[in-house]
Amino acid sequence: MKVTEHIEKAGGKPLISFEILPPLKGKSIQSLHKHLDPLMEFKPPFINVTYHRAETMYKKKQDGSFQQIEVRKRPGTVAICAALRSHYNVDTVPHLICGGFSKHETESALIDLNYLGINNVLALQGDAAKSDTTFEPHPQGHRNAIDLLKQVKDMNLGLYLDDEVQNDNKSDFCVGVAGYPEKHFESPNPEIDMQHLKAKVDAGADYIMTQMFFDNEKYFDFVKRCREAGITVPIIPGLKPLTTRKQLSVLPRIFHIDIPTELSLEVMKCKNDGDVEAIGEAWLKQQSKELIDFGVPVLHYYTLGKPLLIKRVISQLV
Ligand code: FAD
Repeated sequence: MKVTEHIEKAGGKPLISFEILPPLKGKSIQSLHKHLDPLMEFKPPFINVTYHRAETMYKKKQDGSFQQIEVRKRPGTVAICAALRSHYNVDTVPHLICGGFSKHETESALIDLNYLGINNVLALQGDAAKSDTTFEPHPQGHRNAIDLLKQVKDMNLGLYLDDEVQNDNKSDFCVGVAGYPEKHFESPNPEIDMQHLKAKVDAGADYIMTQMFFDNEKYFDFVKRCREAGITVPIIPGLKPLTTRKQLSVLPRIFHIDIPTELSLEVMKCKNDGDVEAIGEAWLKQQSKELIDFGVPVLHYYTLGKPLLIKRVISQLV
């Protein structure tokens, strides 16, 4: 079932969903089962699986020169989605990224997903390569998420890259896109960022999934601004627990989000990360409760190695 169908079927009751990263290469699917098993009692209607581009590395050859190689540390998004779907009988949402992929490679991934009966994707630009300061598209790929979104929507119409005419092999993907309550870091200002988000929705995005945030007011304001801009699709909040003191500086640097003063001060008083985790858990619980009261369609948790903490939070909500 599509994400939007799950939301519709729930009839206003907030759903609970999760997001996982593919394990580092070489690990087995059992490591994911171990991670997800404690959370499956909440019957998530869907689980997102992130996509990670290959990184350019330089390998020293015997003659002393260096060979450039592409290394993918977390491969397998499509396969993991298929495996989780059959193991848990749950819908899965693979993230698709522009970075590092040609349009033809994207089409192949979409054809695979279609064969597998996976009809949800989250269309993203993807992070810049670690070796680049800004995002550089693949020479035969897309620069922005909107272009990837349009490729998926074209397939839904039976339009494939090398076909001259529309054909009957139409896909039926439900496509989500990313939104940033605290603005995407490369946007000149929130208004321009909103215009780009509106363009993605006008191009057919079925829902928006947000970047994590720790201040619900930022999400409430974002939803208000989206609605004022004429965006009517569901806006799913992304939530993550703060669990280490180091994250006070790491999360703002990597994700370009603020950590509220009240939370920061509490964390700064902590003697160890165990204490931070307790504060992060209480904060996430409070955030979740307020978001339920606000009427969010889904609470989407980035599980990131903390399934038991998230389980405790959700147990106190349902
Ligand atoms: P876009 O929508 O393309 O926007 C990128 C920037 O370009 C923004 O500043 C936007 O305002 C601007 N822009 C948009 N359209 C245009 C246009 N037509 N002309 C000029 N500027 C434009 N990264 C990964 O690598 N893998 C993942 O699995 C992953 N999952 C994510 C999940 C969520 C929910 C979120 C919020 C982010 C995720 N990311 C992931 C990170 C994301 O790919 C980066 O934040 C990336 O920098 C932007 O992605 P986007 O899809 O929002 O890009």
